[in-house]
Amino acid sequence: MGKNKDAGFDKKHNDEKRPRKTRNKIIAIAIIAAIVATLVVALSKLDNTKADNTVLIDGIECDTTEYVTFHVHAHLDIFVDSHPLTVPAFIGIENNNHCLYWLHTHSTDGVIHIESPKERGFTLGQFFDIWQSTSKGMPPNDQDPIIYVNGKVVTTSLKDTPLYAHDEITLVYGNPPINMPSFYQFPEGE
Ligand SMILES: [Zn+2]
Repeated sequence: MGKNKDAGFDKKHNDEKRPRKTRNKIIAIAIIAAIVATLVVALSKLDNTKADNTVLIDGIECDTTEYVTFHVHAHLDIFVDSHPLTVPAFIGIENNNHCLYWLHTHSTDGVIHIESPKERGFTLGQFFDIWQSTSKGMPPNDQDPIIYVNGKVVTTSLKDTPLYAHDEITLVYGNPPINMPSFYQFPEGE
């Protein structure tokens, strides 16, 4: 008898508890949903690729992320009176704003990294404009270089020489070098 009473009590107790459990579950789900929604909003703000306080250079953005969607490389050699001029590292990389222009250099190897959110054309002139705004050590700007692409002279100017993947671009100011580069051995995968 006593057992039956207990069982009856437990049953009643459980019957009362069930709706409360369900309500608690709904409240818990609502709280989790609210937290998730807040996180999504916060993350979407963090994920904003546009850096604040940066200027467009020739329409090229300085973004907080590097892109893999379109990521190719060209190589630049510069000779001034037959002497090589080092292309500086970190052209197009703004430390203050933690951003990278779509055209930039990571080291002094002369590799121009071309990375943008979508595939499009870029020119040497745009790279020079970014160089001018973000770094130093540019070649003389009072003379036009002779431009070689993959060892052959081209008739385009700095402004309209396109940058294609794996191009070896050589700029010659004054006397030419003894050995004119005609290609650059990019590291595997670059
Ligand atoms: Zn790269």
